[in-house]
Amino acid sequence: MTDKKNSSFTVMGAGRSGAGVSKLLARHGNKVKLYDENTADKLKYSDTEELEREGVELFLGKWSDELLNCDTLVKSPGIPPANEKLQLAVTAGIKVVSEIEAAFAYCPCPVIAVTGTNGKTTTTVLAGEILKNAGIDAKACGNVGTAFSDVVDGLKSDSIAVIEVSSYQLNDIDRFRPDAGVIMNITPDHLDWHGSFENYLRAKFRIAENMDSECLLVINYDDEILRGEAEKLEVPLAYFGTGIEVYRHAEIGAYADEGIMYFFDKEKEIHETIMETRDINIRGRHNLYNSLAAAISARAFGIGKEVISATLREFAGVEHRIEFVREIRGIRFYNDSKATNTDSMSVALESFDGNIVLIMGGREKGNDYTAVDGLIRKKVKAIVAVGETRDKIIGHFGNIVSVEAAEDMKDAVEKAFRSAVNGDTVLLSPACKSFDMFDSFEHRGEVFKKTVSELK
Ligand code: ADP
Repeated sequence: MTDKKNSSFTVMGAGRSGAGVSKLLARHGNKVKLYDENTADKLKYSDTEELEREGVELFLGKWSDELLNCDTLVKSPGIPPANEKLQLAVTAGIKVVSEIEAAFAYCPCPVIAVTGTNGKTTTTVLAGEILKNAGIDAKACGNVGTAFSDVVDGLKSDSIAVIEVSSYQLNDIDRFRPDAGVIMNITPDHLDWHGSFENYLRAKFRIAENMDSECLLVINYDDEILRGEAEKLEVPLAYFGTGIEVYRHAEIGAYADEGIMYFFDKEKEIHETIMETRDINIRGRHNLYNSLAAAISARAFGIGKEVISATLREFAGVEHRIEFVREIRGIRFYNDSKATNTDSMSVALESFDGNIVLIMGGREKGNDYTAVDGLIRKKVKAIVAVGETRDKIIGHFGNIVSVEAAEDMKDAVEKAFRSAVNGDTVLLSPACKSFDMFDSFEHRGEVFKKTVSELK
């Protein structure tokens, strides 16, 4: 960014982050135009009156070449690099940045940034909770619901911003420099957007591109691709992972070994037990990684192990991600509505010992259910199938376990409840998108929870 004030910006995309960054930039004395291909009535997160009050000039549903009259273009994460309007700006020599880059210029406090293919939200929220419990004014933001731009003006120099950052956002940074940057894991995802796995990997590692000796890059040791890439860099590194290997290999790190979670910093001669892993409240191996990553980030800011372990004991997880809902007659209900593909569903199934009555189904594109046959056989005693994929699910899993069809969520919950007994788990983990019957995965999870809460 050339100047923090008196610059002119065009913001492309009027979603949550686009609206947020427009207001932030306008409030700081910049000239801001906001463009979206949709008209105002189709926008979910933009309050057009408020935007206009803040001095943002709106171009909703109409492109104008005037939009190319700016110093910098702020691109929303969803807009692909090949977008025709964006290309016009690139050809015109306009600098393109992401929302976190634009907002970072106004951030008065240290930043922890969390990226990776999976576990970003959970780790971001958890790290924020640990810091808050330590008495710090910490704000979890980014993709977690509130845009970084929306919280920046409320931060003080002793606050800490914990930001969930996607590879889309990292792809267009310039000076963004987190004090601690965490990469959770990397598996092929969003390749249509990034073009190749190498591009995706490169985008993730841009989290470290402005780091110096005061910063810390936090990497999952058990992810060999990440480890290989991280070791090429000259930034202070911390690792989290499982097994004593992490300790042997790293200078700073957190690891779990034989049921105990440890933190170490060799230079400071610290090697301490944080807690027993069975006392971590959120379930599953994936959440162990999320807990380790959050712990190490907080520890890097000097937070003591007591606060870390107390938070991990009580943190109940993020809504719609293997979220415990209720226990009735010894049957425990979990909402994993966020699981929109078989990979996420597998993570959920792995998190339980067995005796699962699984509610699944919805809208999907090309799930290969064969990939989960083994897990279904091992952990699931019955499936209740609902939504557009109902018949596909019955056809595929019908020979493996008992599968019952349901009309809607209420019917599905009642049928699952009826086929479960004391000690069982009823799990909503759809492996499908929600748009066949709901507005969003959040909406689907809400309906599930409401139905469960009404069971007698
Ligand atoms: P993200 O924000 O990266 O999408 P979330 O914390 O919202 O991640 O978790 C989404 C889903 O991803 C979870 O329901 C779970 O299925 C899976 N998941 C979460 N953490 C991890 C992890 N560390 N490794 C692998 N999968 C994970």
